[in-house]
Amino acid sequence: MRIDGSERYYDNSFFNFIKQGGVVSQMMCRAGCGACCIAPSISTPIPGMPNGKPAGVRCVQLDERNFCRIFGQSDRPAVCSAFSADEATCGSTRDEALLRILDMEQATT
Ligand code: SF4
Repeated sequence: MRIDGSERYYDNSFFNFIKQGGVVSQMMCRAGCGACCIAPSISTPIPGMPNGKPAGVRCVQLDERNFCRIFGQSDRPAVCSAFSADEATCGSTRDEALLRILDMEQATT
């Protein structure tokens, strides 16, 4: 699995719920989770990580409480803004989300 910011439809991947910016899930993020900022690879530049980040690496913009430091700012990557929690991806706990996303990453790379 890779997050590349394109508008491709990622069938069978972590981002299968993103289709041209559309959201198909209404699940709310768990505050202080941050699993989607650690587990997946991100190929687009992130402030402080110009080459994106590998899977399993904590984004430098994720603060100690697992909140995004640049949430709502124009330099937050579009892929991050497009992400919406999905029960099938995020499970019922943060640990479950980390495991599921890492599994999806390995299955699609
Ligand atoms: S930029 Fe913010 S939302 Fe995107 S991966 Fe980093 S911490 Fe998460």
